[in-house]
Amino acid sequence: MNTTDMSPSDSSNPHGAPDADVLVVGAGPTGLLLAGDLAKSGVDVTLLERRDHESNLSRAFSLHARTLEQFDARGLADGLLRIGTPTWALHPFGRLSIDFSRLRTRFPFILTIPQWQVERALLRRTEEAGATILRGARVTGLRQDPDGVDVDVRHSDGTRATLRARYVVGTDGAGSTVRQSLGMPFPGKSAIRSVMLADVLLDRAPDDIFKFSSNEEGFTFFAPFGDGWYRIVAWDRREQVPDDAPVTLEDVRDITKRTIGSDLGMHDPRWLSRFRSDERQVPHYRQGRVFLAGDAAHVHSPAGGMGMNTGIQDAANLGWKLAAVLHGWA
Ligand SMILES: Cc1cc2nc3c(=O)[nH]c(=O)nc-3n(C[C@H](O)[C@H](O)[C@H](O)COP(=O)(O)OP(=O)(O)OC[C@H]3O[C@@H](n4cnc5c(N)ncnc54)[C@H](O)[C@@H]3O)c2cc1C
Repeated sequence: MNTTDMSPSDSSNPHGAPDADVLVVGAGPTGLLLAGDLAKSGVDVTLLERRDHESNLSRAFSLHARTLEQFDARGLADGLLRIGTPTWALHPFGRLSIDFSRLRTRFPFILTIPQWQVERALLRRTEEAGATILRGARVTGLRQDPDGVDVDVRHSDGTRATLRARYVVGTDGAGSTVRQSLGMPFPGKSAIRSVMLADVLLDRAPDDIFKFSSNEEGFTFFAPFGDGWYRIVAWDRREQVPDDAPVTLEDVRDITKRTIGSDLGMHDPRWLSRFRSDERQVPHYRQGRVFLAGDAAHVHSPAGGMGMNTGIQDAANLGWKLAAVLHGWA
């Protein structure tokens, strides 16, 4: 376990020798995979995360074939297959159907699994690989010069520090402080607002899974976690409230009844959330010695489950290249 509490007196080091070769900002799936890959490659990497604890948020719920191949290459796929539920074909809208079983891969399906379980597997690997993980460490700004990057950090006890690295990667999500510190625009648009998410138990299985059941009232969508729990994605056309408005099970029950005629006996929600979905992308993934990856660089409509999957691809792509540069052969 390399989760470290670095005191500010240990770490204030503006313009001195680097504290790490690479600082990765944000321990979501993108940052965890990247820090793990860099550490495995022998790079001195520190992962900074503002949260004090591991995430227990369900959030993204599907892994694509290519993501599972990336996990397989890192010895993680079989463990996730034991927890998740595969779906070989989808019928998301009208007559559209997508048959994954024809893909030439060991994983011809999508795997339904809560995001926190993916993050837990990635975290274990990152720790075992020897990355330093600083929790309760919020990045507040950065400055770069030709030789490195100084990163300002506020610890959860209120103390402040400046860490220096040869490279920084912002994997700090859609509201990325790293992106804002670079002055990088994030052009795009809002795709859909006020979407409700609920992980619930259902007394009756829905007739259709991975299908948007829509009418003039809104839509509902069900994905099975395989252990009796389902993710419901629900949008009520009549009830467009701010993204931070609370969600109740009654809200989800109501729109489910109005779209499919039954609430399927939903009960015991373990997670309820509401979000706004934007479609945005930075014009450049790199500015000098600072990179952006995952949601910090691009955000997507939830349809297709691209968010977590594409972030993991970013990390898998960047990690070995950055390691090659730091090892002096690229
Ligand atoms: C409510 C909700 C539901 C979602 N549902 C789906 C879904 O169904 N399907 C799907 O594909 N995607 C979904 N997403 C999107 C998906 O969760 C993201 O695409 C994915 O988590 C991106 O991973 P990431 O590592 O790039 O960023 P994140 O997972 O956002 O991780 C960023 C990390 O950076 C940390 N951080 C942020 N700022 C700082 C800072 N200044 N200093 C230090 N640390 C910082 C955060 O605490 C966080 O741990 C959902 C997102 C939300 C919010």
